[in-house]
Amino acid sequence: MSSVPEILERRLLKLLSKIGDEGILQKELWKKLNIDSRKGIKIVRRLEKQGLLTRQSIIHRGRKTYIVKLGPKYYVKKTIPSDVVNVPCFFCNLLEDCGEKISVNPINCPKLNSWLAGDP
Ligand code: SF4
Repeated sequence: MSSVPEILERRLLKLLSKIGDEGILQKELWKKLNIDSRKGIKIVRRLEKQGLLTRQSIIHRGRKTYIVKLGPKYYVKKTIPSDVVNVPCFFCNLLEDCGEKISVNPINCPKLNSWLAGDP
């Protein structure tokens, strides 16, 4: 079961994903998520450290604030296929020698090619 901060992190990232490249003012983010700035800043800093979002300092109506956008690691995380954990190499007893001490390698491996072709 997800904790409250994890749920908020997911909501925040989903919102930033919908908003796109222009990003959103930090205080608007708090309003949209219906959270106070103290709670919001903790979440944003945690996600920023992980590279999942970025903050750009700006002056808005004479005050310093931030534009919040998705970070580069968010896109990397999103493009890793969910079934990557099933790659046969992870369970293969030939992994240590594959492509070096034995003739089989990732190019000619029947097990890997069968998995890539989607065979059951
Ligand atoms: S490519 Fe084939 S032999 Fe090599 S580790 Fe992956 S499954 Fe095993």
